[in-house]
Amino acid sequence: MDYRETLKEKKRIVIKVGSSTITYPETGNINLDKLEKFVRILINLLNRGKEVVVVSSGSIPIGRKALGIDADNKSDATKKACAAVGQGRLMMIYEKLFSEYSTLTAQMLLTKESIMSEECCINARNAFEALIDHHVVPIVNENDAIAVSEELYGIFGDNDTMAAQVAELIEADLLILMSDIEGLYTDDPRHNPNARFIHTVRKIDTELEQMGKGAGTASGTGGMHTKIEAAKIATKAGCDMVIANGQSIYTINDVMAGKKIGTLFIAEKNAKSDINEYAPEKDIYRHHKKIK
Ligand code: GLU
Repeated sequence: MDYRETLKEKKRIVIKVGSSTITYPETGNINLDKLEKFVRILINLLNRGKEVVVVSSGSIPIGRKALGIDADNKSDATKKACAAVGQGRLMMIYEKLFSEYSTLTAQMLLTKESIMSEECCINARNAFEALIDHHVVPIVNENDAIAVSEELYGIFGDNDTMAAQVAELIEADLLILMSDIEGLYTDDPRHNPNARFIHTVRKIDTELEQMGKGAGTASGTGGMHTKIEAAKIATKAGCDMVIANGQSIYTINDVMAGKKIGTLFIAEKNAKSDINEYAPEKDIYRHHKKIK
């Protein structure tokens, strides 16, 4: 049996969408059509009896747009103001879309400091459990308005690793990172035509980490490096992880249908299971498609 088949049975799923997935790259405005489809996909997953948690970026670009502040303005205070404005807007849109299906959403804002405190962790976990019990969809983001600078280790900096930490916290079975690239390549496919695509990763070793450093993504805070960091956290915690291209939001359905799409990182505990008949070396193919 193909290991991918087991993804159909995953019960608790964390899905991370980046700013590049939910906004138009040309204008920075929200892609409402895509967001609407995304919400419908989530509702369908709930209808199938799944539990879903969303990690959504977008507060800063949405706030910038609302305030008419240029992306060149790198002032920390301005960025925080944008986050505060944008987060409210983002939640308003999610709430509106989910309410069409009579489903409630909840805003969960985390900081790295809070995740590092045992007490906060327990509180957060209990809150997630209670929300899921009440069929509410938690929508998570970093609390950018108060996050301390990265140098002080107070900031996640990217939602990839935060999504993995959420997956670990709530003991999710599957984490899906919607990216602006199909998945992991042996090198950056935009610069190296010989870069090959990797479908399945059973073990994250130093060679693979090096590949992640070479293969960047076009936009968003986290490049491939942060996605591999996220995979390390998730797979160690017993959660499978898939990096998939968010260009078409329906990719989520393909992943959940067990289709061979994106890069799958198999959780450490599952990598040893008999069900896994993959030969990863055969699973790599030369990528011919031109990447924008
Ligand atoms: N938390 C940031 C935002 O909502 C984005 C971080 C990221 O995209 O990784 O804009």
